[in-house]
Order: sequence, then C-alpha cells, then structure tokens
Amino acid sequence: MQVVTTISYKSIVNGAYTKGMNAKRGMRQGDPISLMLFVLVMEYLHRKLKDLSRIPNFNFHSKCEKLKLVDMSFDDDRLLFTRGDVISVQLVMDRFKSFFEATGLVVNPNKCKLYCGNIDDGTVQQITNITGLTSGVLPFSYAGRIRLINSVIFSTTNFWLQCIPLPKDVIRRIEALCRTFLWTGKGIMSRKALIAWSKVCEPKSQGGLNVVDLARWNKVCLIKLLWNLCRKADSLWVRWVHTNYMKDERVMVVPIKNSCSWILKEILKTIQEVEGLNQWQQVVKNDVFKTKKFYYSLVEAKSKVPWRKLMYENEASPRALFTLWMSCNKRIGTKDRLSKFGMISEENCEFCPAKESLQHLFFECTTMKTIWTAVLEWMNILHSPQGWDKEMTWLLTSCNKKGWRSTVLKTAFTETVYMCWLYRNTSVYKNTGARSNDISGIENDVIDRIVHRCWRNPKLREHVAPLLI
Ligand SMILES: [Zn+2]
Repeated sequence: MQVVTTISYKSIVNGAYTKGMNAKRGMRQGDPISLMLFVLVMEYLHRKLKDLSRIPNFNFHSKCEKLKLVDMSFDDDRLLFTRGDVISVQLVMDRFKSFFEATGLVVNPNKCKLYCGNIDDGTVQQITNITGLTSGVLPFSYAGRIRLINSVIFSTTNFWLQCIPLPKDVIRRIEALCRTFLWTGKGIMSRKALIAWSKVCEPKSQGGLNVVDLARWNKVCLIKLLWNLCRKADSLWVRWVHTNYMKDERVMVVPIKNSCSWILKEILKTIQEVEGLNQWQQVVKNDVFKTKKFYYSLVEAKSKVPWRKLMYENEASPRALFTLWMSCNKRIGTKDRLSKFGMISEENCEFCPAKESLQHLFFECTTMKTIWTAVLEWMNILHSPQGWDKEMTWLLTSCNKKGWRSTVLKTAFTETVYMCWLYRNTSVYKNTGARSNDISGIENDVIDRIVHRCWRNPKLREHVAPLLI
C-alpha cells in the first residue's frame, strides 16, 4: 500500500526535469502517467474527428447531425458515427491515418467492428474495403435484451397504456415482438421461446424475470383513471366527465350510458373488478394511488420457487444471472434437451462419456467438478460437489443466512456455472477439441471474475481481500 500511495513522478520539459508531483490517486496498472497520457491523446483524436464537421463532403449520421456528434468514448472504447456513404467513411479513415502519423497508433481491425443499418450491400462492401473492418451484429446477450425490452416497453408504450385501453391484439403483438427479440435477437416473428412469456413476466420470487405484463399494467392504469374520477382529481378531463356524464351521481354506482366514449366505458367497466378488492378499499381510504404497488398486488400469488434467494443479493454479472435463471428453470440447452426436441442425435458430454444433462454438467462431470471444487477451496469451503439438484439443496442451505458469506457464495456459484457453460459452448460449437481435461487457467479466470464482481460492492471488499493472498 505504501508503494501505491507514496509514488511521485517527474516530467521532462525542454530537456529539464520538473519538480516531483505526488500521485494522490495512486498508481493505475503500474503506470502513474498512463491515464493522463491516454486522455491527452484521445482528446487529440476527438478534436481531429470533430473538425470533420467543417468539411462540406462529410455527412453526419442522421441521428447525430443536430448534436454534431462524430465520436463518443466510454473508458477506452470508442464509437464513431457517420452516414453510411463512402465519402464520409473515407474522410473518417483519413483522419485516422493522420492520427497514426502523429502518434504511431493504428486501428486494430481485430478489435473493431462495423455496424450498418439501412445501407445497400454494395455500399457496405465498399465501406468494408475502405475500413478493413468486418460487419458486426449488436452484441446483445439475453440479459442485455431483457434490459432493452424493459426500457423499450416502458418508454414507448407507457404513455398509451396510461391513457387508453389498448386492444388485446395490440398487446399480444407487442408481447410477441418482445418475446421474439428476447429469444432470437431479431425482429422477425418466431415462435421460438425457451421459456413462456407469461413465466418471464412473473415476479422473481415466483421464478420469473419481472418483465412488465402489459395487459395487467394497462388494467391498473385504467383503475387509476377510475380512482381519479372517484376522487374528483382536479384535472380538466375529470371535471369534464363529471359535468357531462356523471352529473351528480356517484361514479361507483352510475350506469354506463351509451353516450359514453369507448374509453370511458372501459374505465367504468373496471368498477366490477375493483369493488371486491381489498387494495381498492385501501387506495380509496388512504387517498394515494401507487400504480406500481397496485400492479404487484394484482399479481396472482403462486408458490414461490425455493431458488429465488439466489437471484437477490447476488453480485454476479447480468449474463451469469441469466444463465443461472435458465438453469434453475431447467431450460438450459444441454444435449439431453436438444436431443429430446430432435435437434441433435449425439448426447455425450464434451468432457467424458456420460450423457450431458444439467444434472451431469453441474457438477457431476469430473472436469466441471474440478473447477467448482477449486473455487470452493479458494473460498476455504470444504465441500464435494454433486449433481445439480443436490448442489442446489446444499447451496440454498449454505446461503440461508443473510450476510457477506452468502453473497460471495451465491456470486461464486453463479459465475462458475456461467463460465463452465461458456467453456462447454466453446468446446461444442467451435470444435476446439476440448475433450481433453485441459482446464488449467479456467479456475483462475472464474476466480478473477468473482473478485471483480464482488469488488464492485464496497461492503464485500474487506471480505474478498483476504482471499486474494
Ligand atoms: Zn462430463
């Protein structure tokens, strides 16, 4: 720690050393000045690219024109945007060439990708030739797609859901689009779904992912409008409805007149549904309507899944959590499942002659078991892993109490399952011939990930640090 906090450095200006400067923030990756150098050089590149806006032939990306945006960076990742025409791309590449002449830094084609939208194949080919880059597909994992679905559903539909009853067909179609996007990553309708959409929309405690159920949300929004009418909220719409339709009658007993608009009819129809509801009595009594709370109170109470606690207070990455969620629902694509659907004929484990199943892979299989055992040993836990079901029982008992131990163990298990699954996939689909038991390095990768994930939570750091020694 002394070395990290007491470091100082000097620069040479015109051949002479400057006074020493203390590095108050410590050393980064062993090099105290790298951060500053990086920022300086990237600023130079940014200015070179920004300057493109003064060239008449350069065309901005259509969504970036008003902001005059050409490049953006997140840490050491850089995004460039231009309209997909050959001249604009050529101008960008010219800037990179002169950046190279000044700094010696070149674009690494293996680490860059080209993302095109709405451009004809011929132009894409020309752009590929100019840049030397290959086309990429936006790398959304299942977990990334779930996030996108949640935000898209909310931002684009919530406005309408709040003010009109959406027809059932519209809701069904939006959900079909979301479902297709989740499981295939595409917008072309497909029936392919590893887990039913209704399950995905269930709360996490019941084994779902808590994605908004549009029909239910829409209904709650209508109930809120009914509540507004009952409370005579001071809005022009409420006053208008009262003046023209309700006259002096109470909302809850007024008959639905033919003259009512279809929206108002739908709102008044919810009266029958809410009358017997406890939650309705509560919101009327308390004079507060919390849409989200009401929504959750309408979720059908089903039995909770025993593994729900693995989904909470778990620091693992969203991708790893998604893989764990799939495994807990017993829907991960192990060979026994794929063969059941006639997709493959061979069911052998990649690492041994046994049949590949969830039960076997996690962690009866000797190769996978070795990885999990090494992680457990690293955490000073003596336990001999068994098949999935028994491992789950052991894990749930071990994570029974709240606290850092449970969080670290849950994170470790989730990341190990994920990394083992990735390792298995690489060997199945890329034919690396990993049938040998060459797993050296994997345990360390898994442990690195666990440390990295746990370190993000300041409360866990002091507990993870001793494990690093
Ligand atoms: Zn095996």
